[in-house]
Parts: sequence; C-alpha cells; structure tokens
Amino acid sequence: MSEQWIVGVDLGGTTTKLAFINLNGEILHKWEIPTDNSDEGQNITTNIANAIDSKLVELKEQKAKLIGIGMGAPGPIDNEKGVVLNVVNLGWKDNFPLQESLHSLTDLPVEIENDANCAALGEMWDGAGSGARDLVCVTLGTGVGGGVIANGNIVRGINGAAGEIGHITSKPFGGAPCNCGKSGCLETIASATGIVRLAEDEFSNAEAKGQLALIFAENGRVTAKDVFDCARKGDELAKKLVDEVAFHLGFALANIANTLNPEKIVLGGGVSRAGDILLDAVKENFSMYAFSAVRESTTLALATLGNDAGVIGAAWLIKNKLSI
Ligand code: ZN
Repeated sequence: MSEQWIVGVDLGGTTTKLAFINLNGEILHKWEIPTDNSDEGQNITTNIANAIDSKLVELKEQKAKLIGIGMGAPGPIDNEKGVVLNVVNLGWKDNFPLQESLHSLTDLPVEIENDANCAALGEMWDGAGSGARDLVCVTLGTGVGGGVIANGNIVRGINGAAGEIGHITSKPFGGAPCNCGKSGCLETIASATGIVRLAEDEFSNAEAKGQLALIFAENGRVTAKDVFDCARKGDELAKKLVDEVAFHLGFALANIANTLNPEKIVLGGGVSRAGDILLDAVKENFSMYAFSAVRESTTLALATLGNDAGVIGAAWLIKNKLSI
C-alpha cells in the first residue's frame, strides 16, 4: 500500500495553514490560504475543502491517499459535539458545527481541537516534547496560550477551559487589565504585548536611560525583540524587564509543575525565539519555586516546531483517533 497522508489544518484569524503529513508526523507539503471570515464565516470550511482538492490536483495525487483531517481552531471547543463554542473574530455564531461542516464537504473523518492544544500535541509528537506523554506547552505570542497533556491526553476540564496558563493571576494587586476581564494575568506580563507594556511603564519615568530607552526616544515604540536584544548587550533597563518576565513565568510554571510534575515544559511562540536569555532566566526562577522532586525531574525546553506545531498536532488527532 502506498503511503497515506493526514491533512493538518491550523485555522487563524487571518491565514489558515494546511499541510499533508505522513504517519510519522513529517510535513510533506504545506501551504497557506487567507481566512475569509465574511458572511459569518460560512466560506471558511468550503475554502479549506477546495484548497485540499486543488493541492491534490496540483500534486497529481488521488483523494484516496488522505485518511482524515485534523484541525485546530481558536477558542473553546466541544470535542464530543465537534462544535466551536464561540470565536468572535472568525464570524462564526456560537456552537458552529465545524466537524460536521468539514466532514460533509470532504467526506473524510474530521477531528477538531483548540489551537493551543494542537500546538502542545505537535510538540509532544514530533517536537521538543520528543514523545513525552506528560507535557505542558506554553505559547508566548501576542497573548499567552497553554496546553496540558497528561498521559498522552489533553486535559480539558469541565468546560474546556483547562490549561489557560495565560490567565493565571500573577499580580493580584495593581496588575494591568487583561483581555479576559481580570487584572494581573500572566498574559499581561509574559506576552509580547505585556513585555512592551512593561517597557512603556518604565519610559514614563523620566529617568529611564540606556539603549532601550534610546530606541523608544527615536521610534516612539519598542518591541519585545528590542527588549531581549538590548538585554543581551547588557542594557540595565532591558535586563530588569527580562528578569521581571522570567520571575513571573518561572513562578507560574513552578506551581504548575508542583501540581502536575510533567516530564517537560515547552516554551513556544514568538517571544520564545528570544532563546537562551529567556529560557535560562526562567529556569533559574523555576528552580527556586519548584518542589525538590519536581525540580529534579521536570525539564524546561524551547519549542522546536515553530509555526508548524499547530498542523502537526492537528494531524496527530487523526492518527490517535484511528489508532494507527
Ligand atoms: Zn486574563
């Protein structure tokens, strides 16, 4: 029998990533299409089905080569019913029947999962998790996402809201307001947006000086990358900001590890590209707050799949469902 492929789909607010992936989790072909969220998102699944068909034609492959579609979507998902509970920025009304819609258009088995959970599954299958079946994945991007895998299964909780690491309260007093309606969430500190906000708080102090302050004076803004770049060059203000971010991340992750004792905690997302300067500082704080048996057994690592984690984890859903 010739090699079979799984379709991995990672639905984002502006682009949808697609990939044909083999049963070893290797991406053979990947491409992107724009996400059309007009007309209450009615075109999203049609466009995905068409994109899969066109790609097969382009590659001169038969549809029989595909054994299923795994798809990650933002927002809370009811896996049993195959519906997306609510996602404002895709235009879908509450309880959009994503699984049924894509299945009826393609006639293939479809599995859906929250996108942060897909990233965690991807890292477990083929990335920094390297097969670890107890894994926590933290995505440090515009926001902070999380995925918790225990004994190979996603931990969902009673309402699909488990693993919301970004909304762990890190500053119970005087924290910045979060998009979720609370204040002082980890996301307000350790996301790219949070890091920039911390920096801007410092610049409102007239005494702020050094390279980072200079970039702000010249451009009127700084990025999270500027903060890490300046810290690497020894800028005192930037180092202080990295220390603050690393403290809150290390503290939160140590407490998560004290609860779950995962084999690995994987840091992914754009902010994690800062690399060792962030990882080393987080590890230092983690060691300080982790229970000794946890400190000795849970390791922290940077994600290795980058933007591919979502499609690979989505494909894993099919591999797991079909037990192949
Ligand atoms: Zn929050």
